[in-house]
Amino acid sequence: MTPAAAAEPGRPFVIPVFIPYAGCPHRCVFCNQTEITQAECGAGPSAAVRDGIEAFLKHKGPGRSTVQIAFYGGNFLGQAPDEICRLLDVAEGFVRSGDVDGIRFSTRPDTVTPDRLDLLAPVSVDTVELGVQSMDDGVLAASRRGHTAGEARSAVRRLKSRGLSVGLQLMVGLPGDSPETSLRTTLTAADLAPDFVRIYPTLVLKESRLALWHRQGRYTPLSLEAAVDLVSRMYGVFMGRGIPVVRMGLQASSGLDDPETVVAGPYHPAFGHLVLSELFLKCAAGLLAERRQAAAPSTAAIEVHPRNISRMRGLGNKNVEILKAMFHIDKLKIIPNPAVSTTAVRVERTDGIFGGAHGGCGLYER
Ligand code: SF4
Repeated sequence: MTPAAAAEPGRPFVIPVFIPYAGCPHRCVFCNQTEITQAECGAGPSAAVRDGIEAFLKHKGPGRSTVQIAFYGGNFLGQAPDEICRLLDVAEGFVRSGDVDGIRFSTRPDTVTPDRLDLLAPVSVDTVELGVQSMDDGVLAASRRGHTAGEARSAVRRLKSRGLSVGLQLMVGLPGDSPETSLRTTLTAADLAPDFVRIYPTLVLKESRLALWHRQGRYTPLSLEAAVDLVSRMYGVFMGRGIPVVRMGLQASSGLDDPETVVAGPYHPAFGHLVLSELFLKCAAGLLAERRQAAAPSTAAIEVHPRNISRMRGLGNKNVEILKAMFHIDKLKIIPNPAVSTTAVRVERTDGIFGGAHGGCGLYER
């Protein structure tokens, strides 16, 4: 999967069913599902869940081959068995009718027990997303998650042994976290060989415990710049290991765009775009630095796959301006070239200053 695959036709059409706080043993310090999902607590009656799915199905566009119902916003396997079966039964009805291909949900690692997994056997669950957040026990304890990294490891093993696809949700900037622990988490999580990951910067959401700690001076969030830099390094590691990163940053919503909702922290509605732009900037800067043979003002050209033009340019052309200033370039062209890999940047010689033929670099560490 390329970095842009999440935006390509052919990816699953996911119908979200929000179950805010359902099955949660407590409220985690950073969580405010009401603001994130804009939904009330729990899933609601079966008829309402069914109506919601039917309404969402009408938005399915062409080119979406796979359709999945996703239970998000709570701790799915932490619910009572009757409630788990009730929701799965509603979703399975759409699978039986041929409107939907599969079911997915998010859950905490400590709920992935053999008896809960047995409940999934008769239905079409194919993907489980684990709210791992960190693989550092100190960070998990400081964030009062109530589970350990060892439980995340066991959960991945159990899910895989049942043939389920596993996604890991990770967070950066948690209480007790640092870039070093986040990068260690990245390597440990990558060793678990998940099918995909999501990475979220920790935000201080109103009415969360983190908001109280922030007010008391006990918690300082990452700056947007630091979060983008850190997540770009994590993204590079996962993609270099062939593990798709399907989302970076929370989905923009009217709730999150309300300035009262995000009290502090690195929120940006296009966070994932910022991360990819940062990767392209670092890659191009590395190539230009390697190839610079004189300090005289010059012209240069950078070639990227057409899909990556806006990422190479950066938001508001920021990357172009940074590179021009860094390398004293008067004119810097960004050229679409379908022959360049979607995961590479190529610097073109235009006036002899950048000697040699094409210089190319891959975006990911291996
Ligand atoms: S982070 Fe997950 S487990 Fe914690 S309160 Fe929110 S939904 Fe529940």
